[in-house]
Order: sequence, then C-alpha cells, then structure tokens
Amino acid sequence: MQHNEIKYVRASDISSYYMCPRLVYFQRRQVHALAVAAVRADFFKALSHSLGSVMLSPRPELALDDAITRASDDSLLIYGPSYEQTIVGSAAEAREIAMQIVTGLIQEKGQHGEEALMGILFPRTTGTTLYSEKLRISGTVDKIVMAGGAPVPVIISPSQPPKNGVYASDRIRLAAYAMLLGEKYDALCSLGAVEYVPGWCLRRAEIRYEDKRKALYARNRVMDMDRGRMPEAERGKWCGACGHSDACSVKPSLLSSLFK
Ligand code: SF4
Repeated sequence: MQHNEIKYVRASDISSYYMCPRLVYFQRRQVHALAVAAVRADFFKALSHSLGSVMLSPRPELALDDAITRASDDSLLIYGPSYEQTIVGSAAEAREIAMQIVTGLIQEKGQHGEEALMGILFPRTTGTTLYSEKLRISGTVDKIVMAGGAPVPVIISPSQPPKNGVYASDRIRLAAYAMLLGEKYDALCSLGAVEYVPGWCLRRAEIRYEDKRKALYARNRVMDMDRGRMPEAERGKWCGACGHSDACSVKPSLLSSLFK
C-alpha cells in the first residue's frame, strides 16, 4: 500500500480515533475485518430513512414493522447470505425496541412540533460526501437539515443514546462535518445533531471551538499514522465488536513491519 496516496482523513477516522487510535490504524490500511458492526449500522440507517413514512401513517406501529421488514430485505440484497444472521438479528433487535422508537418519535413531535420532526425525517439531503483540500478532511454526512439559514449535520447512530447529550466521538465527528459544511456553504455551522435510532431520540449538540480543535488534533495524529507510526491499543468496551482483535494481539513491532 502506498501511504502517500491517502490525501484526506475521513471524519469517521477522526471519531474512531477517540474510541481507539489503533482501530484507525487498521481501518486506514484496509485490513480485512468482519463487517458485522457495519452491516448492523447500515440496517439502522436504512430504517431511519423510512421513519418519515412511519410517522405519516395512521398506524405507526404497523408501518414500523413493515419498515423493519423492508430494511431487512434491502440489507440482504446488498450484503448477501453471508450476513443473513447479522441482518436477521438486527431486525429482531429493532422489533424488540419498536415501541421505544415510536414513543421517541412521538415525544420529539410533542416537544419540537411536527414540522421540526419532519425536517429531520425528510432532510434536505442524505449521504452527502464532502472533501476539503484545505482541511484535508473528507466525510459523508448522513443528513443535512437547514436551521436559521445554516446547514446542520445529522449523524444516524445505531447506538442507544447516552444518558445525556451525545457521545464524545459523535461530538467531534459533528465538528469535522461542521467545518466541511461551513466551507462548502460559506456559512457558520454552529449546531449538529445525532439521531440515535434504537430508543429513538434526537440529541442536539453545539459545535464548540474545542471540538474543532480536537478534530484537527486527531486529523494530525491520523496523518502521522499514515507515515507509519502505529499507535497504542486503547483496550476497552469497543474491543468486543472490533473485527481487528486478532491482528491487534500481534506484537506492535511485528505489526508495523507487516503493514510497511
Ligand atoms: S481490538 Fe480493541 S484495542 Fe485493538 S484495535 Fe480493536 S478496539 Fe482497538
């Protein structure tokens, strides 16, 4: 692999850096990993895109069940039978928490109004990929909604929400998106949001200078990794779902030589 071909640091690498720097090292080198977590995340993303129709239905519970079946069928078409177990498991998980999802959507409508909810569920754009040569960052923003004339990046997350606010890694990813959107639209992008699909809730987050600084710090460290420096492993709760655990247990000096 020629490291100098990598020009941009992805916003997803920046947020992963704050989960485990070594995870980013593997991701950047495209070491094969079981994509179970990615398939599950895509399933919940597909489900999120159907929630607007669910809320327009007179029977949201039934419409959600149909949406789960559709997301499951579509995921099978995309990923094939090798991931059937993961997809069936994700659909079962979604059915278990279906009432939480509907309740969360109804609560959001009650608190912020139908127009605001529909603005999130039927966003201005979805899956927009942005590149900035100046920032040396790229990223695909799940949803972009407009608020007060400024673009607001929205992450669709397959995680249960934290007790309060958003996860630190999501906050920094939003800051990276905000910088990309600010450059594209020549606007100050000071707000972001995370849609936590399981136990549906929308958490808004102010984009702080500190978050942008952390995003740029992670970008610089990731560029160091591209030059060959392998970071320490940050062992913890993410290891269970990490597809790189086998490679990660190899001695660091040996790993660095393997990926040169
Ligand atoms: S197994 Fe754990 S420490 Fe190793 S790369 Fe994955 S998340 Fe990081």
